[in-house]
Amino acid sequence: MTVDVRSYVGGTWRDGVRTTADVNPAHPTEHVAQTHLGDARLAAAIEAARGAFAAWRVTPAPVRGGILRKAGDLLEERAEDVGRDLTREEGKTLAEGIGETRRAVAILRYYAGQTLEPDGVTYPSHSPATFLFARREPVGVVVAITPWNFPIAIPAWKIAPALAFGNTVVWKPAESVPLTAVHLLRALVDAGLPAGVLNLVIGKGSEIGDRLTTHEAVDAITFTGSNAVGRRLQLKAAELGKKVQLEMGGKNPAVVLADADLAHAAEHVARGAFLSAGQKCTATSRVIVEQPALREFQERLVALAKSWKLGDPLDPDTRVGPLASEDQFKTVTGYLDIGAKDGARVLAGGARAGDLGDGYYVQPTVLADVPPESKVVREEIFGPVAALITARSYDDAVALANDTPFGLTSSLFTRDLAKALRFAADIRTGVVKINQESAGLEFQVPFGGMKESSSGSREQGKAAQEFFTQWKTVYLDLPPSA
Ligand code: ADP
Repeated sequence: MTVDVRSYVGGTWRDGVRTTADVNPAHPTEHVAQTHLGDARLAAAIEAARGAFAAWRVTPAPVRGGILRKAGDLLEERAEDVGRDLTREEGKTLAEGIGETRRAVAILRYYAGQTLEPDGVTYPSHSPATFLFARREPVGVVVAITPWNFPIAIPAWKIAPALAFGNTVVWKPAESVPLTAVHLLRALVDAGLPAGVLNLVIGKGSEIGDRLTTHEAVDAITFTGSNAVGRRLQLKAAELGKKVQLEMGGKNPAVVLADADLAHAAEHVARGAFLSAGQKCTATSRVIVEQPALREFQERLVALAKSWKLGDPLDPDTRVGPLASEDQFKTVTGYLDIGAKDGARVLAGGARAGDLGDGYYVQPTVLADVPPESKVVREEIFGPVAALITARSYDDAVALANDTPFGLTSSLFTRDLAKALRFAADIRTGVVKINQESAGLEFQVPFGGMKESSSGSREQGKAAQEFFTQWKTVYLDLPPSA
């Protein structure tokens, strides 16, 4: 039986104007669902969110938190099924799909907890009669635009704080992962979220993105996706005075110093570069190795790349699944072709996996001798590809690591604490991992990048409050007669 996936607007499911197949990237002939696309309901979704805002903003924050907590409980009960659907439409391994769903549960619970935290500050006034305080209030209608690579965690870390702090939301997930989106929405609706507070609009960004983000009733836009789309969206939104938060690409370096534990470093570089088939904005893609460690490190990394099982993501032995779509497959293999033309040496992988049918599989790949100006080491690939770069010294390694327009995450492998602290200061990335892979985030701390990787205030943790609220300052004097 075909599952139909529809938009959800003002508390009701809406048919699209046309449908498209939700494809399993491990078996492209298998359709996970039939997706209803269209735009007739776009304005209705924004109006529903606008209409619901008046009541939601005055709903006591702990009551809002209660709904988020219940949604977390429901999602936890459903985590195995949700994770399986996530894997079927996105292609990451089942362990990653279920793990990501559990991460969304934790995020819902965390922001439920935040609704009991202080929402303002009192200040001493220069006047003895004045009670001076500032409170955080919701921003209004928030549009959340989310990508396909973390189809439940990223939406959770945008939607949960938006709702916790009293905003209403119009959510446009990536159109290739609509079933996972419906699971998150259902958990919130089943937990008692009032109609109109969260609206799901399924459609292609290129078709509905502009109208969604420029609508006059939209107050704020939180976006995760490509730099090209993010910057365009920001320009338009800025003209219209809307608040914008962007999380975009990365070209994240791992620096391996000569004194590092090389077995540990290789394992964590492999994790950062190859898990989720490298389709994380926090993935490792440039591996900068101090000369004396190069030979041993390279051997270890190549051995891991060759031994990690590539295959069906529902198979429990699989470590690396397919790329998420045919488009992704074309992009990543295109970069491998560019690398070959530019003279890169392939130490492992480098090609489509031959024996896995028509799924979008690319082998974990290690490249060496990539010229510094090659697109392979300048642009985000979003695939299981690590490029080795040799450094003469610590200073050379840091200069190479910082030589990129991006600044999302980085990692350093060393036993030298002084160098670890120096690196944490020298590197221009929003997240720094010492002796850990560049990917993998905890939800209670700020997340975001420097330079071209991000714009606006940070996501996650208490930092999320900055984007989803605005200050109101109150000067209160009792009337003279009181
Ligand atoms: P990627 O597919 O590499 O993650 P995109 O920026 O293409 O990056 O997609 C991220 C999200 O942005 C998706 O939900 C996509 O549908 C949406 N999107 C794409 N184009 C636009 C646009 N012009 N305006 C708004 N959103 C868009």
